[in-house]
Amino acid sequence: MHPLDLPFSRAAHDRAAHRRAEPDLVAALRDDPTTGVLVVHRGRLAVVGHEAPRAALLPAAGLPDGLWLFLGESDGAAHLALVLPETDDPPPPAGAQSWAGLRDVAQGQVDALAAGDLAARLVHGLAVEAVALAGWHATHRRCGRCGEPTAVVQAGWARHCPVDARETYPRTDPAVIMAVVDDADRLLLGHAATWPEGRFSTLAGFVEAGEGLEDTVRREVAEETGVVVGTAPGDVVYRGSQAWPFPASLMLGFRARAVGTAVQTDDEEVTEARWFTRAELAAAASAGEVSLPGRHSIARALIEEWYGEGLPGSW
Ligand SMILES: [Zn+2]
Repeated sequence: MHPLDLPFSRAAHDRAAHRRAEPDLVAALRDDPTTGVLVVHRGRLAVVGHEAPRAALLPAAGLPDGLWLFLGESDGAAHLALVLPETDDPPPPAGAQSWAGLRDVAQGQVDALAAGDLAARLVHGLAVEAVALAGWHATHRRCGRCGEPTAVVQAGWARHCPVDARETYPRTDPAVIMAVVDDADRLLLGHAATWPEGRFSTLAGFVEAGEGLEDTVRREVAEETGVVVGTAPGDVVYRGSQAWPFPASLMLGFRARAVGTAVQTDDEEVTEARWFTRAELAAAASAGEVSLPGRHSIARALIEEWYGEGLPGSW
C-alpha cells in the first residue's frame, strides 16, 4: 500500500526554523517590501476571491499593529502572519476582500491543490500554519506553571515566563481517524450526534495521555461503535496525516481491520454506525440519503481509498 496522496500534506515553503532566534527578525522583515503577510483575526483569514477564497498574501507596509509571527520563506521571500486583536472588529485589510475560516479556504482551494498549483500550495500551507500558531497564542497567554503573563519570543514560536524562565512551545493534539474495514471488505461509517441528518464519516478521536496510536484506534472504534479492531500486525496501518488546527489537532489517518463486526453505538458521540458495501454506499449517496465529508478532509480521502476511486462531488 502506497501512502495516501493527500493534496493538503505538501507545504511549498520552508519554515526556516533556524532564523527564529535572529534578533529583531520580525521588525526587519516588516520593513522588507518582498515580505508577504497573512492576516488572521479570531481564527479567520483575510482572503481574496468569493467562490474559491484564497488567503491573501499582502505587503507589510500599511498593516495595523498586532501580534507578528514568522512563518518561513520561499524563493528568497519571507512570510509573516499578523494576528489582529480579538477585541477589535476590523474590516479586511487593503488588498483583501473579506474574512473566511480555514475550512472554507480549504474547500475553495481543493481543486487548485489537487491540480498541483504551486501558488495555491504555498499560500495554503502558510494559512494552516498561521491559523494554528495564532490559535495557540490566543489560549496560552500565561505560564502554565505559575500563572504569570508570558512574553512572545523566537519570532512567535515560543512564549517565555519571566518568573521561572520557562519556555512553552506551540502544541499539537494528535487525533486518529480511521477507515474500519471488515473481512467482507465493507466500510464502517458513523453518524455523530452533532451532524446534520444523513451525514456519515469515518470514526475519529483524540489520543489520550500515555496512549499509543494503535491503541487509540482500537479504543475509539470500540467506544463509539462496539466494533473490535484486531491486534495482529497489519490490522492498524498508517495511511497519512492532515493538520487540522480547530484549534490544534493533527489528524493521523489509519486503515483498521475489524475482527468483531457487531455494532453497538455509544449514543453520545455516535448515534448511528453502519457497515457499507461499495454498492450500498453508492446507492445511499446517490439517493441523497447519505452525505459524506468534504473534499478537503482526510476522512474523504480514506473513504475514497477504500472505495477504489474518487467519489462524485455530489456525495
Ligand atoms: Zn511561570
